[in-house]
Amino acid sequence: MNTEPGHECHCEEALEHLYEYIDAEMTELELDRLRAHISECTTCLEAVSREQEVRVILRKSCVEVAPDELRMRVRTQLTLLRESRRG
Ligand SMILES: [Zn+2]
Ligand SMILES: [Zn+2]
Repeated sequence: MNTEPGHECHCEEALEHLYEYIDAEMTELELDRLRAHISECTTCLEAVSREQEVRVILRKSCVEVAPDELRMRVRTQLTLLRESRRG
């Protein structure tokens, strides 16, 4: 049993702080809280991995600061990639 007392679903909070979580721009306490939630929540886990995938691609393109437009483009590319893989 891993039912911790006081566990609530924090999807909205987790998604709202997605970027801070990935960049570790939070306190250890907050990181732990989100990490705990994400480890048991498929929705948030998928959102995090999708975002991390984008980060990896951006890093490969040697882009240090990603403008929103580029982010959108990368996201579209990822979607296309997924769809073409699906066959
Ligand atoms: Zn939860
Ligand atoms: Zn969640």
